[in-house]
Amino acid sequence: MPELPEVETTRRGIEPHVLGRTVLGVIVRQPRLRWPVPEDLDEKLKGKQIQGLRRRGKYILFDVDSGALIVHLGMSGSLRMITVADEPVKKHDHIDILLKQGVCLRYHDPRRFGCLLWAEGDPLAHPLLAELGPEPFDLGFSGGYLYAAGQGRMAAVKTFIMDSRLVVGVGNIYANEALFRAGIDPRRAAGRIGLERYGVLAKVIVEVLGEAIAQGGTTLRDFVNASGKPGYFQQTLAVYGREGEPCLLCGSPIRCVRLGQRSTFFCPRCQH
Ligand SMILES: [Zn+2]
Repeated sequence: MPELPEVETTRRGIEPHVLGRTVLGVIVRQPRLRWPVPEDLDEKLKGKQIQGLRRRGKYILFDVDSGALIVHLGMSGSLRMITVADEPVKKHDHIDILLKQGVCLRYHDPRRFGCLLWAEGDPLAHPLLAELGPEPFDLGFSGGYLYAAGQGRMAAVKTFIMDSRLVVGVGNIYANEALFRAGIDPRRAAGRIGLERYGVLAKVIVEVLGEAIAQGGTTLRDFVNASGKPGYFQQTLAVYGREGEPCLLCGSPIRCVRLGQRSTFFCPRCQH
């Protein structure tokens, strides 16, 4: 599943190809995504210049003067640049956004959990985006913020930091890795963690996500090649997917439990 770093890498990969370009038209082959693709999407975007390409959480926003196209990659979506002439349409290539100068942004999504929606005016006011918490890279995201929000909360800290109303983009892999780095047991109640430890947690969340984005940068060329696979990262994972393997710090076997229906990996000795 594309997480925040993959989405940011996608945004950076396509940005130089779409920014300032004018949309010639939109071809929708399959409108039944997570939500139906608006019937008038072509009408809304045709002739419009793409003035900005932003990311908010795991949404990519294509700003035009009258509003924005909102794209979410869902479980299996990808966006890639192609040159219209030399690229046959493959299965699951649901949508093409044709741009001037013979390039096209192609949306591919086998499982169809992604979406392409139109937001009139300010896209940040769209219901899908309005409730989102701060970006982890925002100045407002800090230990103090987490600590204040966690007061009285009995939910496990891992479930807590994965809630996009608290902070966006802390997906399962990154939550596991950040909690390991911070030495915090993922099962600990959010309300039973002190300010200082939350300071460490906020810092390592930013670190883990930043490293994944930096690593994704090296795969940018893949966005224009024939495979069209959006570079998923072979980031070195300390705990995720390592059940029974030795902890990189102490050698104890990594444990795996279910927490909020998500696989949760941790070192029982290093995390408390
Ligand atoms: Zn350990």
